[in-house]
Amino acid sequence: MKSRYSLKLGKPFGIQVSVHWTFSLLIAWIVLISASRGLETTQILMHVLFVLALFVCVVLHELGHSLAAIRLGGEVKSIILLPIGGMAQMSKMPEKPKEEFIVSAAGPLVNIVIAAVLWVYLVTLHTTPVSQMEFESITMKNFPLMLLAANLFIVVFNLIPAFPMDGGRLFRSALSIRMSRLKATQIAKDIGQVFAIFFIIAGLFFNPFLVIIGFFILLGAKGEHEMIKYQDVLKNYTVEDIISTSYAELDAEDNLGKAAEELIHIPDNGFVVKTDGQYSGILTKNDLINGLNAHGKEGKVQDVMRNDIKPVTADTPLFEIYQHMQKNRLYLLPVFSDDQFKGILDLENLNEFFLIKKALV
Ligand SMILES: [Zn+2]
Repeated sequence: MKSRYSLKLGKPFGIQVSVHWTFSLLIAWIVLISASRGLETTQILMHVLFVLALFVCVVLHELGHSLAAIRLGGEVKSIILLPIGGMAQMSKMPEKPKEEFIVSAAGPLVNIVIAAVLWVYLVTLHTTPVSQMEFESITMKNFPLMLLAANLFIVVFNLIPAFPMDGGRLFRSALSIRMSRLKATQIAKDIGQVFAIFFIIAGLFFNPFLVIIGFFILLGAKGEHEMIKYQDVLKNYTVEDIISTSYAELDAEDNLGKAAEELIHIPDNGFVVKTDGQYSGILTKNDLINGLNAHGKEGKVQDVMRNDIKPVTADTPLFEIYQHMQKNRLYLLPVFSDDQFKGILDLENLNEFFLIKKALV
């Protein structure tokens, strides 16, 4: 989810909360649907207000997960709001079964608390008793009850035991107490797929939205399983194990024409750039091609190379680096050990290493 497509809302507890531009489509859709039903402007505004209130609840839900995760030593970068819900992007997630259970439960728990508060308000302060409410459209009178119901819906929906819903994680963490995380993820994935197929078939008959949720679960289950497989295979290795010391080299003073000629002969995703024999940056294939377009053959390597890539140390666990490269779309990293340049780490090599080790287990 690229941040440039989203609007930053604020930074509670140091977590960047932003809303994705597609969210405006949801609002437009609500307005259109309400208008086509012949509702008045004030009623349409009420509907929009309701969606906004609901999304505040979704942010609180994500904050629930985030604060629990931070409490247990995790790191949360941001929360992004999409039309389908919220997503907390964690750079470090607690993995012990008990911790994962607490973090996963914290989100739905927030909605239960919100629902409880609304219920207390309804029975004590609200002027219209539930028995006298009408539910044709959302009004000031039924607003708190509708919001309460929506929060309960969020709880029930999230407790479906399938990834990427909270229920999937709750279920996996409960299973992990008795078996390996990989095995637990496998079972959670299989159950998730059964749910997904059920949703897709039911959606074809009743509501297309269910089809979307079904595919969402299918992808979520596959993605999570894939991630855990990598973790399981790579857990005993560090960057040292796949560092590549025979890399293609360029001098910072070289021109891009020379780099382009060598490009097709090199096995890696790019070059190591040196100045006076010392490491000074990385030139990836993509950067080279973009550089050629912008500066032509006479452009200098040093003008398009990257010297801002954070090097990794040889003793970093391989899975940690794998996640880092995936998340930040890095294909090539410089490896240092005791402040000395040692070689490079190529994402392609890492993927091959994974496949080989997996085949051997
Ligand atoms: Zn959640």
